[in-house]
Amino acid sequence: MLDPLTLWAVLTVVATLLAVGLLFVWWVTPTEPALAHWAGALGFLILGILGGIFRHELPYFIAVALANSCFLVGYSQLWAGLRRFDRQPVSPLLTWAAPLAWILVVHIPPFDADPVARVVLISVAIPILILASLEQLWRGGLRSSKARLGLFIALSIAFVMNFLRIPLLNEQVQSDRIEIFNNPSMAWFGLTGMALTIFICFTVVLMARERAEQQYRQAADRDELTGLLNRRGFMQQAVAVTAAGGPLAVMFLDLDHFKQINDRFGHAAGDSVLVLFAQVLRDNVRDGDVIGRVGGEEFVVLLPGADDAAARAAAERVQRGLKQAAISLHMGADNAPLECTASIGLAIASLPAAVSAPAMESRLRILIERADGVLYRAKKDGRNRIEVVRVDGAAAG
Ligand code: GH3
Ligand code: MG
Ligand code: MG
Repeated sequence: MLDPLTLWAVLTVVATLLAVGLLFVWWVTPTEPALAHWAGALGFLILGILGGIFRHELPYFIAVALANSCFLVGYSQLWAGLRRFDRQPVSPLLTWAAPLAWILVVHIPPFDADPVARVVLISVAIPILILASLEQLWRGGLRSSKARLGLFIALSIAFVMNFLRIPLLNEQVQSDRIEIFNNPSMAWFGLTGMALTIFICFTVVLMARERAEQQYRQAADRDELTGLLNRRGFMQQAVAVTAAGGPLAVMFLDLDHFKQINDRFGHAAGDSVLVLFAQVLRDNVRDGDVIGRVGGEEFVVLLPGADDAAARAAAERVQRGLKQAAISLHMGADNAPLECTASIGLAIASLPAAVSAPAMESRLRILIERADGVLYRAKKDGRNRIEVVRVDGAAAG
């Protein structure tokens, strides 16, 4: 028969194995240092719980000062892990401030002699640390990640539980190990606490997994140099945003005489021009437009909803933006402002809705080809020009 004490012991063993498992996950995913903090957090929380349960068998200093500070280390490390996960700096001083303060405070009155005062203090200190983690989770955004939301809910429950503990403090400080588990509310607390700890462990592993997946997806869909979508990412997103059909324009852009920039100033300078041009594009099209780098110095922008005039206006804005931005780049021995232009081909069309994704993709490919075709004309006619083609009938529909 499983009595609460046995069940609790089983959960403790499971949580300990999970802490070791978390360390292992960190070992195989060294790019996520947060996992090490979380493994440490779990380990210290378990030590804290063990210290509390066996406090009558332990020397005073270990039972009172160290065991409780283990809780504070655990929750501080949980917070530190969240900061690292969100790529924010973590001050070691802040991470260790609460446990160190605790070890000092239990030596001064009234905390040195009054166990009730100590329980009240720790029952306030822990929720403050939990609140810091909740705030970090909230700030990083909960909607984007189910694992993050799960951790937020689990920590909210832990937060409330810590306050509910205060009314029980009398029993807690007076009872010994066996009595704790003969007391139904304390048994409930012990079990729920352990179960929550295990749940928290799963959510943090899931968060790390979600992050890894996001990074793989990003690497597959994005161009590393400019951060824009690559050809594959562009097509995927373009198909998604044109699903509803309607008017749209495809803008094909190619930097003029880009090879000369490379030849005169070096490949690295050429790269910086590409990065600059990517920013010019971002700055001069609307939020819903899709921008991709589809070749070395070739870019495509999909402008959903844009008609002839709107597309032409966007292309002119990009040309002006590039001219201005290039002037700010001083290159070569004479440090002269750079002159850089782009030729642009525009294909304007209106697509029907409710076609399958592959059908939409092949229509978009036709539009991109047509835009590339008029771009060629712009190059032939002297560069730094905008050429437009209207694509109707079979190609568009
Ligand atoms: P045009 O006006 O006819 O477009 O002439 P262009 O020199 O721009 O065109 P061309 O196609 O002859 O040269 C494109 C150059 O772009 C050649 C290639 O070395 C360079 N390039 C391609 N990818 C990159 C890159 O990632 N970085 C840098 N720096 N250069 C690149
Ligand atoms: Mg080219
Ligand atoms: Mg070119």
